Amino acid sequence: MGNPLRDRRTPQEFAANRQSIDFDDKIGEFGRLAGIVEADLSTLGAEKLPPGWRDRTVAGQLNFGFADAQQGLPVLEGRVAATVDAVCQRCLEPMELALTVELKLLFASDSAEATDDSGFEVWELDEETLRPLDIVDEALAMAVPLAVLHENDENCSRPADVADESRDTIRPFAALKSQMEHDN
Ligand SMILES: [Zn+2]
Repeated sequence: MGNPLRDRRTPQEFAANRQSIDFDDKIGEFGRLAGIVEADLSTLGAEKLPPGWRDRTVAGQLNFGFADAQQGLPVLEGRVAATVDAVCQRCLEPMELALTVELKLLFASDSAEATDDSGFEVWELDEETLRPLDIVDEALAMAVPLAVLHENDENCSRPADVADESRDTIRPFAALKSQMEHDN
């Protein structure tokens, strides 16, 4: 029996089956997310690299259905979560980053098909079919923040006040604004 997370079908087929998927997989199975985590961790020395970062769990629940009574607008709703290893951009030490994504996606070839008040985000497909795994992968990859920082200063080996002082020395926009004022 195959895992429906890896089935490749059209959104209409998933929706017509009212496909529901519960999954619990390893990050290594999610290529884009794993690539981002790997690139981030590559700045760590080998002795600090968290062992088994690829084996961390990505779990979630997905439900396909239709947004409309005519069954013309397939949708996917669900919730996916993962805790990944990351590097704090302030202290450059490894840390855990929790990612949670609520999915409320509508599959349409034309974004005009989605009404503004539906609450669904239009997900445009490059091809007719999709693999639910790829959607989870892309949604989690997009949820990774550009700069990851320890949320709690106590865990960070470079406290926020030190970082804030160094930030004050970089003021390109203030310099530019002052220059523009003089030009006038
Ligand atoms: Zn830190």
